[in-house]
Amino acid sequence: MSIAWLSKKLNNGKILCQACAHACKLDEGEYGICGVRKVEDGELKLLVYGLAAAVNVDPVEKKPMYHFLPNSTVFSMGTVGCNFSCKFCQNFDISQYPKEHHPQIVGKELPPEQIVRLALEQECKSIAYTYNEPIVFFEYTYDTAKLAHKKGLKNIYVTSGFETNKALDLLEPYIDGMNIDIKAFTDEFYKEICGARLKPVLECVKYAYEKGIWIEITTLLIPGKNDSDEEIRNIARFIASVDVSIPWHISAFHPTYKMLDVPTTPASTLLKAYNIGKEEGLKYLYVGNIDDEDHQSTYCPKCNKRVIDRQGYIGQYVTNELDENGICPYCGYAIEGVWN
Ligand code: SF4
Repeated sequence: MSIAWLSKKLNNGKILCQACAHACKLDEGEYGICGVRKVEDGELKLLVYGLAAAVNVDPVEKKPMYHFLPNSTVFSMGTVGCNFSCKFCQNFDISQYPKEHHPQIVGKELPPEQIVRLALEQECKSIAYTYNEPIVFFEYTYDTAKLAHKKGLKNIYVTSGFETNKALDLLEPYIDGMNIDIKAFTDEFYKEICGARLKPVLECVKYAYEKGIWIEITTLLIPGKNDSDEEIRNIARFIASVDVSIPWHISAFHPTYKMLDVPTTPASTLLKAYNIGKEEGLKYLYVGNIDDEDHQSTYCPKCNKRVIDRQGYIGQYVTNELDENGICPYCGYAIEGVWN
């Protein structure tokens, strides 16, 4: 346990958590919506500091990050707890654990120094804060990311994009890449299915982009919930309005958690979204959770040659023809991304 210092004492005696857009205002003994930040002895505490609930060495393509040190491995870790309650969560066993087993908190002791040491031992190039929402364990990620940078490792946030501007200001020097979900383009979806709101997510994408953090976007298309042509086009237009160079990962849903009655996304829906993204001017589109080499590979926007070939369910078999600066070998175009 540690002080959750990204917080502020209010005049009325409550404590405001400044990590995410829920902006919980908590009295002594109260927990935030995420279930892992709690006021104890007059201070906001992070109950999962140094307690990892999931740890793996993954291909960076699995995050998914396709324009970020391709073909490298990333030390991935997460804790229990989440500020969202998505009915389709693939990691609900850890993300919803504090809510479903209140007041139990679980995790294996893994202080920041050990995460960095293990990442180096495993020859990873980066550390990803992933599996559950990293902003709920902000202070743990902050200390780890700072240390990781000192040792030459990069840092990735895999997030639902509910970070406050204040959190992003603090993360900017240490977080090199973010994969941000835009889960839908209606507030109803965010409210009813995720227990959140759309607007803060769009603001977070814009602000993280302005800060110069490398961003990739992911949307899980769920049949009948967020896969209409209009909604897909609205997401594509929004991304294009920020920057047409932001990669967009369009992923297939598989029935899980509280959405077992919804069918798997057909490949035709993913391809429809891929084409809508193209029509809206996005340069880099990728289908996900499906093995489709043609639509998982990177094409140079100038000469249209395939410059990074990806195969496999998560695009993990990579043939990268770009040089260490991301330059297309056929026409010299600089593909946007983090390449070294
Ligand atoms: S991180 Fe948790 S405690 Fe803080 S505002 Fe978000 S839900 Fe509330």
